[in-house]
Amino acid sequence: MSTPKPAPLLTILQQVQQGIVRCTRCTRLREYGENIGRVKRRMYRDQEYWARPVPGFGDPNARIHVLGLAPGAHGANRTGRPFTGDASGDFMYDVLHELGLATKPKAVSRDDGLKLRKLWISSVVRCAPPGDKPTPQEVRNCAPHLTAEIAELKKVRVVVCLGKIAWDGFLAHLLAQGVIERRSAYTFSHGAEYMLPNGLHLLGCYHPSLRNTNTGRLNRPMFAKVFVRALELSA
Ligand code: SF4
Repeated sequence: MSTPKPAPLLTILQQVQQGIVRCTRCTRLREYGENIGRVKRRMYRDQEYWARPVPGFGDPNARIHVLGLAPGAHGANRTGRPFTGDASGDFMYDVLHELGLATKPKAVSRDDGLKLRKLWISSVVRCAPPGDKPTPQEVRNCAPHLTAEIAELKKVRVVVCLGKIAWDGFLAHLLAQGVIERRSAYTFSHGAEYMLPNGLHLLGCYHPSLRNTNTGRLNRPMFAKVFVRALELSA
């Protein structure tokens, strides 16, 4: 009788992802996400919601790290993968695909076969917050997950922050790590670009939320331009 093969050892990045999925640090957010998963949106009533914290996703050898705000209540909180299954993702993945950073133009579910090339996507808060507004304490609670994830993304050269909350969350990480001395030296705007003391490039981009894309505050050329620049800087 042959001996069964041992289960493959998880990489540290995979262990970080598992730790995120099991996290219960924010009672309000966990209750909210689970409740959304029970009640569901009508059009998704036949689906089983993920309704847990959403780990990062992409290429472990990524050179570009895209940092968003938090999972959408009926997007990533439903599918379990960042920006998958909602309008923000529809807008974003189409551009990423055109630039060769994603293998498909649309992200539908965790098992849709979409892969990212040289890109990692995550968020500063891993659970869907009511009204897309996490409290400052919830952002702080989630910061250790970001720090642990960044420590394992060793080839990243460029960080693209989607929106001010992601920007501030990343700056808080840099401050805590002693990379920067003060946040005020780094102002968020769409197209903002900074070279950080640790050699990383930081780019600002409006979040591709419906609020921004429907009002024309963010359009496809504006969004694509940031990622073209990220590709140049990461080369
Ligand atoms: S938001 Fe982050 S810290 Fe809070 S429960 Fe979710 S994964 Fe944990």
